[in-house]
Amino acid sequence: MLEIKNLHASVGDDKPILKGLDLSVPAGEVHAIMGPNGSGKSTLSYVLTGRDGYEVTDGTIIYDGEDVAELAPEERAARGLFLSFQYPVEIPGVPTLTFMKESLNAQRRARGEDEMSAPDFMKHVREKAKLLNISGDMLKRPVNVGFSGGEKKRLEILQAAVLEPRFLILDETDSGLDIDALKVVSDGVNALRSPERGMLVITHYQRLLDHIAPDKVHVMSAGRIVASGGPELAKELEAEGYDKYVRAA
Ligand code: ADP
Ligand code: MG
Repeated sequence: MLEIKNLHASVGDDKPILKGLDLSVPAGEVHAIMGPNGSGKSTLSYVLTGRDGYEVTDGTIIYDGEDVAELAPEERAARGLFLSFQYPVEIPGVPTLTFMKESLNAQRRARGEDEMSAPDFMKHVREKAKLLNISGDMLKRPVNVGFSGGEKKRLEILQAAVLEPRFLILDETDSGLDIDALKVVSDGVNALRSPERGMLVITHYQRLLDHIAPDKVHVMSAGRIVASGGPELAKELEAEGYDKYVRAA
């Protein structure tokens, strides 16, 4: 479903960050990426979703059989690529419900589908919000404004649940969550698992992977995937750290 080959990418004034990254995530699978700070994990998530200021200088990103490296962010979103930000942004003045309804309908229009009506949308959101313990009051407030760290992360997952993307990238969605919020977020992520859907979960913590049993775990260091394995690799990293992989890279 997602095939990344020899990906090189730079940020800002031609600063190379990704340096020959290979990664393949088949539909139906959940893959985790772990790795030290500064290894390029967030950069990878931005390059995949097409954020401004990031340039692919070599290699390919094949998503559903199509090279998406040159597509605009909204074109990738319409194809079902979704990123949950490591640092969700506040959007003062825009009510959360309006924001989500506009996002959903913009994607439906781009796919040539009918827009969802206001009552249908409300029903759709309420159902998903309940699972994530998000109140109607929170949804009326401006996007992320005054939300706690945990609320912001839960809202990211609600957006995913509402948009029903085909490929999700979660960038440290678990960091800063207490144990209860972590459980709620993991349940939300697990509810999105499906044979048609792929996921890339960037995390530092085994505790998230205890809830979301990943099919594969990859270690990223200095802009490349330097090791891959099963869930046991995450346990090894937790016990021994990244040292051996950093030195090898
Ligand atoms: P990770 O998410 O693995 O911690 P990042 O992808 O955030 O790593 O960062 C990788 C490297 O790229 C870091 O050295 C960081 O300082 C650098 N970097 C990220 N964004 C920019 C930017 N806009 N301009 C210059 N350097 C950047
Ligand atoms: Mg990061």
